[in-house]
Amino acid sequence: MWADDVLSQMTLKEKIALCSGKNFWRTKAMPRRGVPGVVLCDGPHGLRRQTAEGGLAMLRVHHSLPATCFPTAVTLAGGWDAALLERVGEAIGREAAARGVGVVLGPGANLKRDPLCGRNFEYFSEDPYLAGRLAAAHITGLQKNGVGASLKHFAANSQEESRLVSDSRIDERTLRELYLSAFETAVRTARPATVMCAYNKLNGIHCSDHKWLLTDVLRGEWGFDGLVVTDWGALNDRAAAFRAGCDLAMPGGSAYGERAAKRAVQSGALDAAAVDASARRVLVLADRARQIRRGGSFDEDAHHALAREAAEQGAVLLQNDGLLPLAASGRVAVIGAMAKTPRYQGAGSSHINPTRLSGALEALPGVIAALGASPDIVYAPGCDDAGDTTDALLAEAARAARGADAAVVFAGLPDRCESEGFDREDLQMPEGHLRMIEAVAAANVNTAVVLLCGGAVECPWADKVRAVLYMGLPGQAGGEAAANLLYGRANPCGRLAESWPLRYADCPTAAHYKNQRDAQYREGLYVGYRYYEKAAVPVRWAFGHGLSYTRFSYSELHVTEERVTAVVTNVGGVPGAEVAQLYLAPPKNGLYRPLRELKGFAKVFLRPGESRTVAFPLCRRDFAVWAGGWRVPSGRYGVEVGGGPRCALRGFLDVAGEEIPAPAWQAGSWYERPHGAPDEAGWRAMRGGIPGADASGDAPLQEPAARDAFPSESSPAPRRGSFTMDSTLLEMRDACPATRLLYRCVRAVLLRGCGGEDTPAARMLLTGALGSPLRCVQISAGLRGGVCAGLLDWANGRFWRGVWRMLSGG
Ligand code: BGC
Repeated sequence: MWADDVLSQMTLKEKIALCSGKNFWRTKAMPRRGVPGVVLCDGPHGLRRQTAEGGLAMLRVHHSLPATCFPTAVTLAGGWDAALLERVGEAIGREAAARGVGVVLGPGANLKRDPLCGRNFEYFSEDPYLAGRLAAAHITGLQKNGVGASLKHFAANSQEESRLVSDSRIDERTLRELYLSAFETAVRTARPATVMCAYNKLNGIHCSDHKWLLTDVLRGEWGFDGLVVTDWGALNDRAAAFRAGCDLAMPGGSAYGERAAKRAVQSGALDAAAVDASARRVLVLADRARQIRRGGSFDEDAHHALAREAAEQGAVLLQNDGLLPLAASGRVAVIGAMAKTPRYQGAGSSHINPTRLSGALEALPGVIAALGASPDIVYAPGCDDAGDTTDALLAEAARAARGADAAVVFAGLPDRCESEGFDREDLQMPEGHLRMIEAVAAANVNTAVVLLCGGAVECPWADKVRAVLYMGLPGQAGGEAAANLLYGRANPCGRLAESWPLRYADCPTAAHYKNQRDAQYREGLYVGYRYYEKAAVPVRWAFGHGLSYTRFSYSELHVTEERVTAVVTNVGGVPGAEVAQLYLAPPKNGLYRPLRELKGFAKVFLRPGESRTVAFPLCRRDFAVWAGGWRVPSGRYGVEVGGGPRCALRGFLDVAGEEIPAPAWQAGSWYERPHGAPDEAGWRAMRGGIPGADASGDAPLQEPAARDAFPSESSPAPRRGSFTMDSTLLEMRDACPATRLLYRCVRAVLLRGCGGEDTPAARMLLTGALGSPLRCVQISAGLRGGVCAGLLDWANGRFWRGVWRMLSGG
């Protein structure tokens, strides 16, 4: 094989060098050995092909070649349609090949643990089954013509707060059943070319150094045979990363760590075979990339049409008492700046420069005309692009609404509210949007709201409007999709892939998620609907919920251990698609479990009167829990099938498995009867009492010394005297004059690079650079050891020692 031949000719130095990138977007080429470089670029919902590959130009994250901006993962997931995800993935792969890209960085399979996560719009779901199936489909499509996917961010990366330094503390059962599960499905079924390890630590160990995660589980158990790449700047320790099975450090540009890795091999501390294995995987990736048929063009119109279809399929009709679809003949008042300047994607590394873009306001006349009516549309902005309003804007909006047959308000979250790099402050919409909805609803009883935002928001106004259509962040054709849906040219068929709580305080994570450097996964398995259902906490709109302009009925449930089938019929008056969902309700004895879990879904399109049998295959794993291994508890399982959270069909199944007794800590604990905030003591007991933990499970996840050293209630922010190489410039900024000056300089340079604006992209870059641990700064800037060690001493109040270190280099 080519990779083996090349590897056999390479020196140790070359092999180590090959395992860190050339620059921001490219791996190293070695012409002497005939090795081409590979271009990697973001994803996931389109191609962000930047022409600049290094220097300050990189700070302009939103500058890239035009590409189709498909709906973001939140909207794609709303479609509950694996085949559609595959087509979208394939189209992105085609664009990537046309641009000479070898790997597209996506999809993201992290779970939506808490609705405040700034990056939730890039992730699929709170449910691992759904997230795993959709991620797998996306990868399958993307890789169809040779381009590789990069499944990210592995693993347990469900917050943006302190994202470069946080430690995700999770018990193994929760990790296996929830946070690893979507990755496992995607790896096993779609075989991504690469997996991207996350920034955070997992139970005390950086993901890049995590041998248990990257080798034992990913490769050993799941059979992953591709390459592990770090998230950009996530490398912690080159030698440890080689040992762990982390192959490629990105971005490149600094040779830091390469000498250390070489010395480690020479001294016997690092096995040369680990370097060989990683270098070989980089070569295999290069080999794969050079076989892609590059160049050519892609059909912009067809991709745009697919983006529109995906947005229509993923939109969720949350509420409708018959107002929608609107009659084409009446006057409609279109209110809200977002109707004109749509919010259609999120900020950060996934930001696409769209090939075209239109808001709903622009699309509506064509839709109404296509229905044979002459458009009668009045528009009022109601607020500005930032979501602020004035009395005059509100009065104008109310006036427009009052004179119309129906009013449609476009509202949601402006760009500044959600982005990669920081979490949302709260679940509220901007004050201006709230006032705008109230004013319009008061002026016209026929008011519908179209929501454009990347995740759940509190909707205290919901009872005052007749319809709510959730578009998510629907991509470049979202405006056309919204117009088609509002007038019934497309029939809504999306379902929520995450629960919408009534208020943030209802979330099981509300008391221990926000502003925490380290993430304590105290809620265990109770994420999203798993919590709300068991705790009987009402939500605004439940996981799996979504309405249609037609109605469906369910019949003929057949249940075996291998397969569940049911018949779905369109009993309404218009064609439409239904998302049939299968939930399994486990027996209520033994280990704590949610009331039920999603274990199958199928999307079917039916004409009025048409019926179709839907089939959900099952396997043993669908019944299993993690208890030191996958084990199936014996007992009677409830089987529920329906088109939403309230399932029309119910049956049961007696399954022979094992008796798995409840552990001692469980009796009377929060985990048996969850409600409100899980307490720290209960969580500690739960973590310590996992069946099989002592024998096999929990120990490898933690540093040996960390087992008793759980972070306290809220992990204290490091202070002068206790800073380490894991501390960030943000944390050290007031520690001494040197760090203060450095902080200010870095901030100024970054802001200048971003054009001096206070945009979400600038905020992301600031939190990225200033929130980077010293260790990462040292690696990516390629600084000599003494510089950071000296700075650290100064920050810790040891001035002279710092001077000595700076001068002596160590
Ligand atoms: C993000 C990744 C992204 C990478 C490259 C990182 O900051 O976490 O998702 O692929 O940058 O832009």
